[in-house]
Amino acid sequence: MKHFICAIALLLQVEIVMAAAADATVSNIFLVTLDGLRWQEVFRGLDESLATNGDYTERSETIIARYGASNTEDSAAALMPFLHNRVFRDGTVVGNRDRNSCARVSNSWYFSYPGYNEILTGVVDESIDSNAKIPNPNKTFLELLNDTGSYRDQVAAFGSWDVFPYIFNVERSGLHLNAAQNADPAENEFEVFLNRLQDDIPSPWGNVRLDAFTHHYALSHIRNHHPRIVYIGYGETDDFAHDGQYDQYVMAAHRNDRFIEELWELISSDAFYKDNTVLFVTVDHGRGEEPEETWRHHASKKSVSRNMQSLARYEEGIVGSDAVWMAAIGPGVPASGLVATGDGCLTSDRIAATLLKLLGEDYRLFNPGMGAPMSEFLQ
Ligand SMILES: [Zn+2]
Repeated sequence: MKHFICAIALLLQVEIVMAAAADATVSNIFLVTLDGLRWQEVFRGLDESLATNGDYTERSETIIARYGASNTEDSAAALMPFLHNRVFRDGTVVGNRDRNSCARVSNSWYFSYPGYNEILTGVVDESIDSNAKIPNPNKTFLELLNDTGSYRDQVAAFGSWDVFPYIFNVERSGLHLNAAQNADPAENEFEVFLNRLQDDIPSPWGNVRLDAFTHHYALSHIRNHHPRIVYIGYGETDDFAHDGQYDQYVMAAHRNDRFIEELWELISSDAFYKDNTVLFVTVDHGRGEEPEETWRHHASKKSVSRNMQSLARYEEGIVGSDAVWMAAIGPGVPASGLVATGDGCLTSDRIAATLLKLLGEDYRLFNPGMGAPMSEFLQ
């Protein structure tokens, strides 16, 4: 009898292990970027000095009431509740420099095209030294996957910025990309209305649309087509920061957090994505901190000496704008919470290989030049 019970116990154990292994199968990836959202706001919440500075904040009372708190943890959780209460708890996060957790870009510029190229292709290409609309000579991991039989036409990208068609080299890659003011032919009444609103609502900026359009085009396409690989690049945080509007910057960050929550709700409630989809969130660069006004900017020392004359007064560049953060949740990603990085620092050129590894793919077969997968994000 004892042996029989042991055998049943063993069988149960084997079944539990097998179930865990089956749960860890990742079929789909959602990669989300928030343009230039500093780790400082993500982990410390509202910067009180900026929030009360009339030069940067019109709606001081509003943002303090919504996101202010007596300590940085509570303020950060009020600003980005879904990231803190769900992703950072049930997943893995790096980049809180107050807690010995470091992430940074590897490129030497600290602005967007080099940053997105690094995230999406896994390689640092020093020839990408501006945000000019030049077709990317490198292939993103989306293009590499789309070129294989099993992912063909199951890849979709969405972005607020009008340089994404060049970063993804849509002409060569043929990827489905809905970016900037472009509208796809409407496939349902909701998309007819969305196209109409996009025509009728002016964007504050010439080259970036409001993130609500990017978000709702993405949600609608995902529901209709169920792509396996999804990229969404939100952009408002960077533009409001450049404009010096701290209240708008933090409110955009809060909306982005809600958008991410909505993506996760879709993933969790749709049988196609449920329990087999990883959500990865990161940023293309950081911003300055000292002197205070450098929160608006980002650029390396090399950038300001070479091609950013408007920031030439900052001889050392915008210090700290290489700092980024990364977080992921889903099967195959450990529930480690915040990971300390010791003397090391994780880099954005390792994201593509990490996502490929989660899918069970070997990055070396796609591009051996990619940064290696990050074990911190792998079970
Ligand atoms: Zn920028």
